[in-house]
Amino acid sequence: MKFRSASAVAVLAAASLTLAACGGDSDSGSGDKVKIGIKFDQPGLGFKDGSKYTGFDVAVAKYVAGKMGYKENQIEWVQSPSKQRESMLKAGTVKMIFATYSITDKRKKEVAFAGPYFVAGQSVLVRADSNINDVTGLKGKKVCSVTGSTSVDNLKKEQPNLVPQEYDTYSACASALKDGVIDAMTTDDTILAGYANQTAYKGKFKLVGNTFSTEKYGVGLKQGDTDTCKKVNTAIQEMVKDGSWEKALKDNLGADYKFNAENNPPKAFEAC
Ligand code: GLU
Repeated sequence: MKFRSASAVAVLAAASLTLAACGGDSDSGSGDKVKIGIKFDQPGLGFKDGSKYTGFDVAVAKYVAGKMGYKENQIEWVQSPSKQRESMLKAGTVKMIFATYSITDKRKKEVAFAGPYFVAGQSVLVRADSNINDVTGLKGKKVCSVTGSTSVDNLKKEQPNLVPQEYDTYSACASALKDGVIDAMTTDDTILAGYANQTAYKGKFKLVGNTFSTEKYGVGLKQGDTDTCKKVNTAIQEMVKDGSWEKALKDNLGADYKFNAENNPPKAFEAC
C-alpha cells in the first residue's frame, strides 16, 4: 500500500475547494453537467441513435451550451415529449429545452423562452399514393398529431369538425401513417420532412400543400431565468453570424428541405 504525501493531500484538498466554489448552479462548466431536453424520435431535429444524438435542435443546443462553458461530455440529454415540456422546465428536470418548441403566449404563462433559433410552419404528410393535396383535403379523414402541440390546436382551427387522432409522439403517427391506420399526419414541415427522408419511409410519404402556421422555435427555460435567456440569445446570434447555423440546417435537414427564407434566420428575439 502506498501512502499519499502530505503535499498531494493538500493539492487534492485545494482542488475540491475549487470544485465546490464552481459548483451549485453556476453554469460555467468546471465539471458540472447541464441537463438539456430534446426529442429522441424526430430525425433531422432531435434524434437518439444508440448513444449518439443528432439533429438541428441538438446542434443548436451543443453550440449554445458550448458558449455557456459546457463541453459536449457535460451535456446530459433528456427526452422531452411535447406534452411534458412545460412541467419539466417548471420542475427543473432540465435547464433548457431545444425540442421543436414553439414560442406561444399560452406557454409563456408557464415557462420562459429565449430565441427563436428557427421559424417553421405547419404542413401535411400523406402516403405517396394519397389524393389529399393540402389541409382542406383533411375533411372527414383520420388525421394524427401529438397531444400538447400547437399542431393539434392549429388543425382544430383549420378543420373545426375534425377530431384529431392524438398520439404521444410524431414517430407513432408516422408509423400509423405507413400502416394505413390513419390517412394523414400534421405538424411542422421540418418534422414531416425528417420522416419523409428517413430510410424506413423513403418514397412512402409526400408533403402536401403550403404551410398554414408560423412556428417560432424557442429555447424553453424556467420562468425568471433571465441570465440563461440572455446568454442563449447572444449565442444564437453568434451561431448565425459565424455560419454554424446555416451549416447545421443543411447538415441535418438536407438540401431538399426549403426553409422560409423570409423568416430565417430569425431577427427578432424574445426579450429576457
Ligand atoms: N412546434 C410545435 C409545438 O411546439 C409542434 C412540434 C412539437 O410538438 O414539438 O407544439
